[in-house]
Amino acid sequence: MLKGIGVSPGVVWGKSAVLRGPAMEIPEYPISPEQVEAEIARLHEAVDRSRSQLVSISAHLVRNLGQEHTYILDTHILILDDPTFVKTATEAISQFRINAEWALRRALDHFIKVFDEVADEYIKERRRDVEQVGGRILHNLLGQAPDLLAGFKEPVILISHDLTPADTLQLTKEKVLGFATDIGSATSHTAIMARALEIPAVVGLKNISERIETGDLILIDGDEGIVILSPSQDVLEFYKAKQVRLRTQMDELEELRDLPPRTLDGKEIILAANIEYAKEVETALTYGAQGVGLFRTEYLFINRRTLPSEEEQFQEYRKIAQMVHPHFAVIRTVDLGGDKFLSPPPLGGGLNPALGLRAIRFCLKEIALFKAQLRAILRASHYGKLRLMFPLISGVEELRRAREILAETAEELRHSGIPFDSDLKVGVMIETPSAVVIADLLARESDFFSIGTNDLSQYSLAIDRVNEEVAYLYDPLHPSILRSIHSVVQAAHNRGLWVDLCGEMSGDPLNAIILLGLELDELSMNPLFIPRMKQVLRSLSFSGAREVAAQTLHLPTGAEVRDYLKQEASRRFGLRFH
Ligand code: PEP
Ligand code: MG
Repeated sequence: MLKGIGVSPGVVWGKSAVLRGPAMEIPEYPISPEQVEAEIARLHEAVDRSRSQLVSISAHLVRNLGQEHTYILDTHILILDDPTFVKTATEAISQFRINAEWALRRALDHFIKVFDEVADEYIKERRRDVEQVGGRILHNLLGQAPDLLAGFKEPVILISHDLTPADTLQLTKEKVLGFATDIGSATSHTAIMARALEIPAVVGLKNISERIETGDLILIDGDEGIVILSPSQDVLEFYKAKQVRLRTQMDELEELRDLPPRTLDGKEIILAANIEYAKEVETALTYGAQGVGLFRTEYLFINRRTLPSEEEQFQEYRKIAQMVHPHFAVIRTVDLGGDKFLSPPPLGGGLNPALGLRAIRFCLKEIALFKAQLRAILRASHYGKLRLMFPLISGVEELRRAREILAETAEELRHSGIPFDSDLKVGVMIETPSAVVIADLLARESDFFSIGTNDLSQYSLAIDRVNEEVAYLYDPLHPSILRSIHSVVQAAHNRGLWVDLCGEMSGDPLNAIILLGLELDELSMNPLFIPRMKQVLRSLSFSGAREVAAQTLHLPTGAEVRDYLKQEASRRFGLRFH
């Protein structure tokens, strides 16, 4: 049994499929004599592109760290420039009439074999460099994220060192029963995506990708964060019973769908859904969501060669607006960078992507892309109740600049006679410590707030969201996070703004008391968690929750907050959490 971090609930078992190295299916097909020249040109183009990527990364490193750190990149550039390397591949294209990817793979295999035969350990090590350079060229040749699952016929449990959010988006329930990875944490976008797709997942297992072979029978329990290798019949029986139990619980909870999320003393708090793509709206409504509190639009942008057009985006946003009606949907402008990239080219790379060109910063640089999205959102706002919000705002200038571009876009639409909601509400995501501190200033220039505790924890506690080594420090009940939420709500309410909380913490029923007590107006979460959250809220009293929340603000550690919440949940409301 291996213990990791359960990030997407559910129990599944089946055969494993281990993805190793660059998770890439390499297409192999013959070409006609007329295609040879074009295929060679394609290879050269990919090589040139790889070289300029390496040169630009290297220049970046020199600027930030000094010359001595570019050694590996320089080695890679030398390999690329080695005439025999590219020549072997181009010859294979013309000699065997095969596509560039196949020819490159053959050339790589040849070179790797030569390295393997050398006795010198240092030279042997260089084999990795050749593989990495080859992987880069292949990636550029393919021009887009590869289809991870092309090779698998029956549904499998995927095992990998890591899956990017873009990889995860390619997973479908028909092909993937669940997945387990070496690295990752509960608030990485990969984990969020797994929950959205309702695929059970365990991450942060350290070396599972080395311990398992394709075809091994494994079981994963996404609730407990457990992976069992070769489970015995007894173990399987135990988990079958657990699966049935979970399903019955879910059915019971669904009966709550039409009941209001109202406390015993009559306080209502809106429970909305976080979604990643339009199809999820249906599930969200089934679980009783009263609207969409966060639509993460970046999934329209990744895993593709070209940017989504304004028209394509408009169709998507309009669909959401119409589906959730009479409720509202909050569309967040695209939050690329950090752990979500356009592919290719990788965006927001560098040494510390979370602190780099991400979210609103990226949009304010790529004005054409930003405006196309704003036009699409504005146009869609005519067809339902939409709201708009900007991610990762850290200062008032950013908010002003974004609003200015929005106003310009609206003016253009008006000029062309295209209808839109002229009273579209504009919100700010509070997810940097800076935004917390200046929440009063931001409140003067926005219509609502949405607190993103995933990023707020990342930046306040200085822990990388995707790094399993520091995942133990991630704690949304940390006093600094609770105090931040408290002060943001106060700043908002002082100016009559409503506040939503859309980080992952809003889906944990133990947090219901404190979030209600801190007087959030709305909680937005993965739809799966709405029924249970509603059930808990309906057994609380607002006055009691306020007293509890006030007390927790004086407690020194997250662990003490958690214990106190459990104790009060039981003492005041008869609720048991373990
Ligand atoms: C957050 O940061 O809490 C949030 C909701 O946004 P995302 O998880 O997409 O960064
Ligand atoms: Mg965020």
